[in-house]
Amino acid sequence: MKVVVIGGGPAGIMAAISAAKENDEVILIEKNNSLGRKLLITGKGRCNITSSINIEDFIKNIPGNGRFLYSAFQNYTNQDIIELIEKNGIKVKEERGNRIFPVTDRAEDVLNCFIKELKKYKNIEIRTGKKVDKLLVESGEIKGIELSSGEKIFASKVVLATGGKSYPVTGSDGDGYKMAKEVGHTVEKIRGSLVPLTGDQRLCQSMQGLSLRNVKITIKDIEKNKKIYDDFGELLFTHFGVSGPTVLSSSAHLLRYKDIDNLLRENKIKLYIDLKPALSNEELDLRIRRDFEEVKNKEFKNSLEKLLPKKMIPAILELSGIDINKKVNSITKEERQKLVELFKNFEINIDGFRPVEEAIVTAGGISIKEINPKTMESKIISGLYFAGEIIDVDAYTGGFNLQIAYSTGFTAGLKM
Ligand code: FAD
Repeated sequence: MKVVVIGGGPAGIMAAISAAKENDEVILIEKNNSLGRKLLITGKGRCNITSSINIEDFIKNIPGNGRFLYSAFQNYTNQDIIELIEKNGIKVKEERGNRIFPVTDRAEDVLNCFIKELKKYKNIEIRTGKKVDKLLVESGEIKGIELSSGEKIFASKVVLATGGKSYPVTGSDGDGYKMAKEVGHTVEKIRGSLVPLTGDQRLCQSMQGLSLRNVKITIKDIEKNKKIYDDFGELLFTHFGVSGPTVLSSSAHLLRYKDIDNLLRENKIKLYIDLKPALSNEELDLRIRRDFEEVKNKEFKNSLEKLLPKKMIPAILELSGIDINKKVNSITKEERQKLVELFKNFEINIDGFRPVEEAIVTAGGISIKEINPKTMESKIISGLYFAGEIIDVDAYTGGFNLQIAYSTGFTAGLKM
């Protein structure tokens, strides 16, 4: 049987490998001149390959249709991918949060393992620099594909693994959705997940580039006075709002919050930063009093260096409402309370998400209702299979999104 796999990312590569094991003639087609462009930028170039946790916990980390992936995760586990990488010469290590990385800290080494593995199969032909334009279908059955050059390749099985819509410079620019739609598939609304947030532009811009470590963030629906998300870690100010690991994770929760687009539009979503999460309000007040004692004859504007990063001081001075030329020893208890409040609940009004192109992963995609979860075969077109981010599934950070790609890819490649 001849199999065509469209897309040379981790999902397509795994699909080609598993199809080749069963002696098929496999053609892996990638529109870039090389495979795995996105893989190279994963984990800030270090590639968080997978997670060491068990399948049940994997599913808990996949807010976008996690249960759909149960069979695929059983078919190809985190241990299987670790084995594949180690047998191709790269050892892995475990870091905070059960995250698995290559010991070399280089995503390129992970990609090279995949390429080595692919090359072991003489029945896999890799065609790079070729863009697929169309799926060829007749009477509900796949017949092959058509390249943008007009060349047709006939095959009895086609795996569509063209990725999502994020970071389009890596090649995944939504082509696959169009091709699937043309043959009758439903594409669930595309949104960016693990994406930066916009808001309070002037304020955030004034602190652009500042990365706060060890802060606590809380995101609230202020209409219902309901906490939507909280997290502890790093936050980055940007020219449009906020980013960094805590913010990216929060976006996966926010985008699923009921009526979120209206709430954002109506300024009902706030992000609060606790700059001193290890201290209670009383302890922080004590700390400020101690610091103020050391600089009591200075002006207020020159008193915060020990308490705050430099880039944040102008914003805090302005928001405190305290006369910046006032001597520190004349600051009142009420004014100090205001400062404590600002340090514990630094408020940012969130008004939107950055576009999907800037997201780590795409939420939405080919409807899971139209895919058999045991095989990844289309329920609409026989012989057409899906793998990876193109499917309407998405996970939090931690190596889960790549594991989705390997497991669905492997499953899609199997002969059923
Ligand atoms: P992709 O990797 O996007 O591959 C799809 C391929 O299909 C592309 O090479 C594309 O060029 C090709 N293609 C598209 N259209 C066509 C066409 N018409 N014809 C031929 N070829 C085509 N996940 C983790 O688990 N761990 C991480 O550390 C991590 N870090 C990330 C960091 C960043 C900055 C980003 C953007 C994502 C990160 N992810 C991470 C997510 C992960 O990279 C993706 O979920 C994963 O790459 C999806 O794999 P895929 O094979 O489905 O799609």
